[in-house]
Amino acid sequence: MRYLLISDIHANLAAFESVLEDAKGLYDKVWCLGDMVGYGPDPNECVELLLTLDHLCIAGNHDWAVLGKLDIDDFNPDARFASLWTREQLTDKVRDYLDNLPIALVEEKLYTLVHGSPRHPIWEYILSPTIAQPNFKQFNTPYCFVGHTHSPVIFQEALQANAMCEPLAADFNNGPMRLGERRLIINPGSVGQPRDGDARAAYGILDIDARSFEYRRTSYPVSVTQEKMKAYDFPARLWNRLAFGW
Ligand code: ZN
Repeated sequence: MRYLLISDIHANLAAFESVLEDAKGLYDKVWCLGDMVGYGPDPNECVELLLTLDHLCIAGNHDWAVLGKLDIDDFNPDARFASLWTREQLTDKVRDYLDNLPIALVEEKLYTLVHGSPRHPIWEYILSPTIAQPNFKQFNTPYCFVGHTHSPVIFQEALQANAMCEPLAADFNNGPMRLGERRLIINPGSVGQPRDGDARAAYGILDIDARSFEYRRTSYPVSVTQEKMKAYDFPARLWNRLAFGW
């Protein structure tokens, strides 16, 4: 069984479609790590497309924010604009879908799925080894998939107890890496709003039988998404950033 690992699509339909095209034939099912909506112009379309796939999805902070389940006062002005705009767009069907997303899942006995971190699934950002380290104690499986930071990275647990975990840089389009004995926190990166300086959509393929994970990256027509955002009078910062991946 092979899984398509996607996260932080953020209502960017062009990016989502390009990932599905690029990954065609490489996966059987989909695991989505949350933030389907917020920032981008196609919230309903992205959820409807996900619903056509054999998938599991967990809730992200933006999914909660548009439902009013999370206070958006902590959001920056651009994120708040997008969240309030999205609220007005959502169909009842999509709102219900987002409202029923779980916040954490354990699948195939080996894989924990959360949006932010195992310790605080909705909002904690695992941006550094010092934040990853205590989180290794917060899940019971060998591997945990997270999103939220929009930056692809793997944190590998140290061999000695209490030694600091190590970050491993994502190696894109370079074939699968075997998941070894050491526990890992894996972030596949963001489909719809990458923030690692690479504008291409990021995702991963997990092969359960081979116990391997492959980082992949594919370009998509950024201008298609930008033009929709301009037409809806989104703040320039929100559509500008997509061209640069920040
Ligand atoms: Zn996000």
